Amino acid sequence: MIGGGQLARMTHQAAIALGQTLRVLSGTADEPAAQVSPDVVLGSHTDLDALRTAAVGSHALTFDHEHVPTEHLDVLVAEGVNVQPPPQALIYAQDKLAMRRKLGELGAPVPAFAEVTWAEDVVKFGAEHGWPVVIKAVRGGYDGRGVWITDDSDEAERIVTRQLDKGVSLIVEEKVEMRRELSAMVARSPFGQGATWPVVETVQRHGQCAVVLAPAPALPDSLAEAAEELALRIASELGVVGAMAVELFETTDGTLVVNELAMRPHNSGHWTMDGARTSQFEQHLRAVLDYPLGDTAPLAPITVMANVLGAPTAPEMSMDERVHHLFARMPDAKIHLYGKGEREDRKIGHVNIVGGPGSIDDPEYVARVRERAERAAHWLSHAEWTDGWDAHGE
Ligand code: ADP
Repeated sequence: MIGGGQLARMTHQAAIALGQTLRVLSGTADEPAAQVSPDVVLGSHTDLDALRTAAVGSHALTFDHEHVPTEHLDVLVAEGVNVQPPPQALIYAQDKLAMRRKLGELGAPVPAFAEVTWAEDVVKFGAEHGWPVVIKAVRGGYDGRGVWITDDSDEAERIVTRQLDKGVSLIVEEKVEMRRELSAMVARSPFGQGATWPVVETVQRHGQCAVVLAPAPALPDSLAEAAEELALRIASELGVVGAMAVELFETTDGTLVVNELAMRPHNSGHWTMDGARTSQFEQHLRAVLDYPLGDTAPLAPITVMANVLGAPTAPEMSMDERVHHLFARMPDAKIHLYGKGEREDRKIGHVNIVGGPGSIDDPEYVARVRERAERAAHWLSHAEWTDGWDAHGE
């Protein structure tokens, strides 16, 4: 796996159970996956020789991020490496302009968009489609970095000029009026088998995912089915192999619009580690190794995943002690820590709460499970109980 982040770390966990060893290409020895894999190649994902070294003897080569240059992947494929997802599919998770064009061709719902080659393109787009507009880096963005929303044409010009001067390619798209954000996760194998998990709701804070509700509450069946079918169709039309998240907007008038594609395990699928029969990490491995795919059935009416996002200043209480207290209060909380240093808003772990008996159609039940997941995650990052609970009180 190219990249030594938390996605590789959790894929490694799944690989162990399948009798596989996950070799990781990691920038440094202290990245999340490099800490736990016995087979680490240190090097950069932009260095062809490092990629070659990582690929030697592998059954398949896959990714924990989308930043490997396509020309390097083409070389690896030509040299006989089994790159999954293949570069001609991966390009649509790497390049937002290529993705928008391709999905448009496939008739998938996408916002109005245009390529930006100078500031005037954005001003023209705003005049045509209305303000505000969303300006995006074509490549390299993640967790909201590389996305600018503005309703001011002067500011838009400044953003565009600054980014183009830095050599960043841009697109502009209409700002979608949305009810919420959804994610449809699927997996596809080279054999052509596809599998979907239930469509989830993703809650963003400061431009990054904070909470996932699985499945998405109050989602009409027709929309859930349409989202799953769309994701499976995209996977098959693009020739995706592995897990793929189709990030979606549910618009205020109740339709779906595709935001972007991620061809790898994804934050919106972390709930599957405890809340589904087959986790996204195991499924990704099954897919890239061309095994039959696993059962994706959920194990509870709802599972809520809350990211542990670093506090503005790391608490004095050690993480070990925070874990101790959390387990004392919530024996059912499932913790996944990534071995990362604490920094404000950095994803350092997540908590899954698998709901007990109840119904996804009962808003109070959903709210209770969600509150516990968020309370647990906040405790782990801040060493503060959001309800003021004091373990040493009564
Ligand atoms: P990244 O690649 O950094 O995750 P995204 O393209 O997913 O970037 O955008 C990050 C966030 O910005 C989205 O989750 C959404 O909240 C908001 N956003 C992106 N595109 C649009 C759009 N066209 N309309 C409204 N909001 C958008």
